Formats: sequence, C-alpha cells, structure tokens
Amino acid sequence: MRKSAPRPKRKDTTVPPRPRHSDTSLIHQEPSSQWPRVPDVVPAAWLDRLLAAAVDLPLASGERAVVTAVVEAVAAILPGYAVGACFVPVGAATPRDQVLVRRLPEGIRESSAGVDPARLFPVLAHEHVSPLPGSTTGSTLHVASDVDPLDHERSPTVHLVDRTALVLTRALAVARDLASPARTVRDARVLEERLMQADKLATFGQIAAGVVHELNNPLTSIVAYSDYLIRKALADGAPRDADDVERLKRISESANRMLRFTRDLVSYARPSNGVAGPVVLHGVIDQSVAFCEHVLAAAGVSVDKRYGADVLTVRGVSEQLVQVFVNLLTNASQAAPAGGGQVVVTTQVDAASRRVRVVVEDNGSGIAREHLTQVFVPFFTTKGDRHGTGLGLSIVKNILEAHDGEIHAESDAGRGARFVLELPIWSR
Ligand code: ADP
Repeated sequence: MRKSAPRPKRKDTTVPPRPRHSDTSLIHQEPSSQWPRVPDVVPAAWLDRLLAAAVDLPLASGERAVVTAVVEAVAAILPGYAVGACFVPVGAATPRDQVLVRRLPEGIRESSAGVDPARLFPVLAHEHVSPLPGSTTGSTLHVASDVDPLDHERSPTVHLVDRTALVLTRALAVARDLASPARTVRDARVLEERLMQADKLATFGQIAAGVVHELNNPLTSIVAYSDYLIRKALADGAPRDADDVERLKRISESANRMLRFTRDLVSYARPSNGVAGPVVLHGVIDQSVAFCEHVLAAAGVSVDKRYGADVLTVRGVSEQLVQVFVNLLTNASQAAPAGGGQVVVTTQVDAASRRVRVVVEDNGSGIAREHLTQVFVPFFTTKGDRHGTGLGLSIVKNILEAHDGEIHAESDAGRGARFVLELPIWSR
C-alpha cells in the first residue's frame, strides 16, 4: 500500500468529496488517488451480508426500507461502530431531527450533553458522513467511532463503508426493480419455475427411464400376442366370437397407448443426449416426413415443402430436431379433416437475427384461442385418455428451448393450426 501525502486536516463531520466511480462494476473499482490506503475489493464476507440484505428487502419497499437495509448491513459488518442514516432536507442544519435509523454499538450510552447538532452520534469522538448513492431524498449514512479517527482520506473503514453503501444501494435498486409491480412477480416466478422444473426433471427422468425399461418388454409382448390372436381369429373367415376379437383389439390398443406414453415420458424428461452441431434443416424435415409416412397416409394428409433457398444449417442435435417435426406432423395428421388434409412447411432465414424461421401449418381442426399457450403445458390434451398423452408439444418446446430456439402456436379456430419455430443458424 502506498503511503498518502500529508493533507490539511478536515473536520470529521463535513461531507467529504465523493470519489468518482466511472466503473459500473459492483465490486472491482480502480484505486483512486484520493483513497490511497484501501483494498480494491469489498471482502467476500461483506458481500454475503450485502446480498442477504438485498434479498431480505420487502417486496414493496420504499426508500426508508432501503436505507434501513444499508444501515443494518453496515452495522453488521462493523460491530464496533455506531451506524445510522438520516434524511437531510435542503438547508437543514440538524440531521438528528430527521433520523431514519440509528445503531449504536454495545456498551455505548447515548448522551446529549454538549452535543454538536450536526452529528448523529455526538457522544462519539469521530463521525464520518457520506451521501447514500441512489438516494432520491438526500439520505446520508453516518459512521461513528471513539477510536478510529475516520479520516476519510486515510481510513480504510471509511472507504469500505462508502463502497459498501454503493454496492448495497445498487443491489437494492435491482431487488426493488425486480419486485416492482411493473415487472410483477412474473420474472421471479418464471425463474423459480424453471429451476424447480430442471430439478424435478433430473429425478423424474431417472425414474421414468427405469419405469420404461421395466414396462417395455411386457407391453411389447402384450401388443405382439394380442395382434397375433386377432389375426389368427380373423384368418379363417368370421371369428367364432366377434366380441372376443373386439376385446383383444382393446387390449392391443391400450398396450400401445401405454408404450406411447412411456416413450413420450422419457423423451419429455430426458431428451436424447447429443452434442449440438451443424444440422441440415431440410434434411431433418425430409427425414421426419419419411418417418411419418404411415401416419400421414392413414389420415390422407399431403405435405407441401416450401423451403427457402438460403436455409442451410442450423445449430442443433439432429435426432432431437427430427422428434420436433415428427410430433408436429403427427398432431397435424390427427387434426386433419375427415376427407384428408394438407400440411405446408415453410423455411426462411432472417439474416439480421441469424435465425431460421420454420412454419408448420395445417388445415385441420385448429386450436381454440384459450388453448394456444396451454398446448405446450405437459399433460394438456384435448384428445381424451385413449389417444393423447399431452406430452408431444411439451417435448417440442423443451427441445427448442435447449436449442436456444422458440415456438409458438397460432390458429383461427376451425381453420387450421400454425406452429412458428425459430432456430439459430449454425456458426463456428
Ligand atoms: P397430445 O397430442 O397427446 O394431445 P400434444 O402436446 O402433442 O399432446 O398436443 C396438445 C394439444 O394441442 C392436443 O391435444 C391438441 O388439442 C392441440 N394440438 C396440437 N397440435 C394441433 C394441431 N395441429 N391442430 C389442432 N390442435 C392441435
């Protein structure tokens, strides 16, 4: 540490010239020639306390709550000092009249004998005053001591108190901003939900994978044997008992549904691993259409691909993107009009955002306005228990989010559904 040059002595109670901090970083700041003896960084333990104070701030806090939090934090980190704050109206001579908060260290008794009215802690020999950064009402922070001269030009305490006040008031401003009615609690809630979801899925994925593993073999046997018995019963003309065939069909259908559900559950909870790399988007869509050939043909749905000439590669995991389009095409087939329908897939590059926009549009039953966002919620289905798992679009959304992409649904109910996707273009 450099030694400071001798300077004319200043009265402790005057408001010292504030260092100009051009750096917006909360923690690190350039050492200023005005503050020669102090560390550059607020110690970690202090930051813990500052953050704790910021987090504990009541949601609808006003300036009083903020200033109180600053004082509490400074008092907690400087147990041997008196700390307080007051609001100083323009031209006021006695800040004590406007005291907001006062914290005296243990063992110090208040006395007003022979007090200097400019002081908040007249009983103590030295007092440092600094304006609270960010205060709209002229609040000042006071730190007082009998032992520490609190000479603002040499005292590390003063420097750290100033810096602490700066850090905390900024942290509190952020906390207040987040909690403000304009932002609502939505942001915090979204964040919390995401964290909970991620946490739940980690466990859920493991359980689901285990369950699926146990279920797959017996279910596959049930499907295979019931199909075999149905074919056998129908092979020799009219079956001996038509009701039994019907029962067998139900067994097969139910077992198939369970297989589909367990498969979806695993995809939802644990999307296939894979490292994102360059993926030829049109190749992925072609492959998905090929996978869905059977479903599309059964519903009489044709696919019209309108590929943008310049759409080349996106950043992604190929098999996951195939699943996105398989799910969208399957849904479009299931929503198709009775006589058959059409799906149009359009791709287009947005050069400015370096993203590809894909629109998958069908002319099926459409989605009711109130369901447009709900369709992405896990287990939401309008297809009834027999056909829908309600996981297809949540899988799609999860995959897109993992790709730094987006999806939303549009529909004029009764006149088809449109899914609009965005994916980042591959770049090294
Ligand atoms: P599921 O297909 O098992 O119901 P999804 O998550 O794939 O689950 O879809 C949720 C719901 O979204 C469907 O039940 C349906 O109401 C609606 N939906 C999805 N795609 C379409 C579409 N192309 N046309 C009409 N409705 C759709």
